[in-house]
Amino acid sequence: MTIDADLSKKIILAMAQAIADQQAMLSQLDVTVGDGDHGHNLAKAFADANKQVQALSSADLQTIWRTAGGSIRDSVGGASGVLFGAFFTGAARTLAGKVLLTTPDVAEMLEAGLAVVQKRGKAKPGDKTLVDALAPAAEAAQKAANDNIAVGPALTKISEAALAGAEATRDMIAQHGRAKFLGERSVGHQDAGATSMAILLRAWADAVR
Ligand code: ADP
Ligand code: MG
Repeated sequence: MTIDADLSKKIILAMAQAIADQQAMLSQLDVTVGDGDHGHNLAKAFADANKQVQALSSADLQTIWRTAGGSIRDSVGGASGVLFGAFFTGAARTLAGKVLLTTPDVAEMLEAGLAVVQKRGKAKPGDKTLVDALAPAAEAAQKAANDNIAVGPALTKISEAALAGAEATRDMIAQHGRAKFLGERSVGHQDAGATSMAILLRAWADAVR
């Protein structure tokens, strides 16, 4: 099982659907510690990205993922447009000349995407941001690549690591974004962006299965 350009388009579609389905829950997570717009922001960003990606004719892998990133970045203001856009464009940088994605390629994408997100946002693991879902996902991807696991089961492991990471943000004190102003009162609330990242990676895994 490998991921080609056609399946990549289906992955972006699955991501857009998953975020649309969870939009209300994601905004609710952002109500208590932020301004309650997270689900709305991401749903708009991914609806726009999906539209642009599906309209591409005969696009290669890199163009598909880069187009998604650019569209997410340009579609909404706020932290999430910039950071989720940066994740996709960062991941897309590893795709030059590739026609298929196997587990090591996905590991490279996640690592590069994480690096760009951290460069932009300056968040470290433990700061209660989407990095807390993405960093364990990238680590799980690297481990799956080292263990020669096929891309389908690898993506399941990756999405499980992201979900565990997102759930762990509940106990963290926010160091970035609007939630930072709450300080210790942010404890007890799961981070919205980390939850979205886990949902996106789960949609990726489901689309490949
Ligand atoms: P805004 O904060 O502009 O309203 P959103 O509500 O869409 O944007 O997104 C908030 C999410 O963005 C947070 O839950 C967090 O995961 C993520 N985030 C905020 N600042 C950073 C940062 N510096 N680095 C990484 N992620 C961040
Ligand atoms: Mg917000």
